[in-house]
Amino acid sequence: MARYIAAIDQGTTSTRCMIFDHGGNVISVDQREHEQIFPRAGWVEHDPEEIWRNTREVCAGALAKADLVTDDVVAVGITNQRETTVVWDRTTGKPVYNAIVWQDTRTDAITEELAGLGGGQMRYHAATGLPLATYFSGPKAKWILDNVEGARAKADAGELAFGTIDTWLLWNATGGPDGGVHVTDPTNASRTLLMDLDTLEWNEQNATDMGIPMSMLPEIRSSSEVYAHIGARGALAGLPLAGILGDQQAATFGQACLSVGEAKNTYGTGNFVLLNTGTEKVMSENGLLTTVCYKIGEQDAVYALEGSIAVTGSLVQWLRDNLGLIDSAPEVEQLAHSVDDNGGVYFVPAFSGLFAPYWRSDARGAIVGLTRYVTRGHLAHAVLQATAFQSREVIDAMDADSGVPLKSLKVDGGMVGNELLMQFQADILGVPVIRPVVAETTALGAAYAAGLAVGFWESEDEIRNNWAQDKQWDPAMDEAERERQYRLWKKAVTKTFDWVD
Ligand code: ADP
Repeated sequence: MARYIAAIDQGTTSTRCMIFDHGGNVISVDQREHEQIFPRAGWVEHDPEEIWRNTREVCAGALAKADLVTDDVVAVGITNQRETTVVWDRTTGKPVYNAIVWQDTRTDAITEELAGLGGGQMRYHAATGLPLATYFSGPKAKWILDNVEGARAKADAGELAFGTIDTWLLWNATGGPDGGVHVTDPTNASRTLLMDLDTLEWNEQNATDMGIPMSMLPEIRSSSEVYAHIGARGALAGLPLAGILGDQQAATFGQACLSVGEAKNTYGTGNFVLLNTGTEKVMSENGLLTTVCYKIGEQDAVYALEGSIAVTGSLVQWLRDNLGLIDSAPEVEQLAHSVDDNGGVYFVPAFSGLFAPYWRSDARGAIVGLTRYVTRGHLAHAVLQATAFQSREVIDAMDADSGVPLKSLKVDGGMVGNELLMQFQADILGVPVIRPVVAETTALGAAYAAGLAVGFWESEDEIRNNWAQDKQWDPAMDEAERERQYRLWKKAVTKTFDWVD
């Protein structure tokens, strides 16, 4: 008897398949890392074919690890790193270029050029909820069409397809060149600068500005419905693909932030705070994005305010890979415990410019406050604190936009195993930080979207009931110290501006 839902979680650093039971418990996981390709400073690419291969392998692996067969699974959901852009040939199924990853800043000149058409950085804000920034997909697709020989002509002839990673995987899993289904959901489409937030349809003017033919774009469906069945090429063959959510929206769903005013913060490669604003979209006046949170079948879309932070967990990776100060990411906590505090050091990791609430592509990283006294341990504190300070900045912006101060924060993601960071986060926010039992909220959210579509879960109430608390951290820092440290952080941020010629 079929009892489980599978979720494909295609992240920035790795691809996972997770299998969940009706209670939302993890039954099995398989995971593969993929190569991070850095061809030049500021450029980040992935090989889409490697990602598709890894996806098939982890799906088969997750089944095998729990001794399951395909028939034990009812439906499959997809969640994905957002904005990362693939353009491929519909006939051969081959990408015309590597995937350009969300962190990649090569579209700096393109975004400036688009801003120059009139309206500046906020040219598309009213329609899409987004400022013009290198982060989003549309300009990345334009870069490929502008720079890959012959791509523009093929695109104009209708021979190329555009997709975010959800779309690339679903097209491949449903047959690729042999009848692959070319769709996406509104959460992914809302990250392209090409989708109109009110109609949930592609905006022709924006596509024309970017020279992207409408024929390249996938159909925008809901986040929870049966799109198609997996073909013989994919593992889990024959099962319905029934949910798509961008990773941060999936985590919001998996955290059961299903009512207006509920928010979560995910601590992964970057950090992403999302606040559910219900069926009304709230336009930010404080540097946040307005985005689609989810759209379940025929129901109205639910919107979110989002604070996106480019570099948090990846700063810990940088400490490991580029400086060699630690051998593994969790060791940063031990290193920090070698001293009591940051020793006066602040580390602003503006490696990809600064995202929310600044949106400065001219910013680059800075370590300030250095003295002869400073050790590796102080640097480890500064690295962890950078995540907490950046989170405070976007939560302050959210409080200002929504007019309702946050009372507590639900957290998830790879960094929330770090106790020092979680305590500091509560200290610097002045509100409790709460971690759920199932920290794999991203995959869980995609499983919920797929399970709702096929009736495995009846209603959102079942999802609320499945959510359970694991641990809570309460603020322990006094107000004056909190504000002193935050003031110094803000001052450090100003040192990163205007650094690109
Ligand atoms: P993603 O889904 O974005 O690939 P994950 O949620 O898997 O990321 O989180 C991985 C990130 O978390 C990595 O950047 C890693 O450096 C960081 N990380 C993992 N464990 C810890 C830890 N104990 N302390 C600090 N950072 C950690």
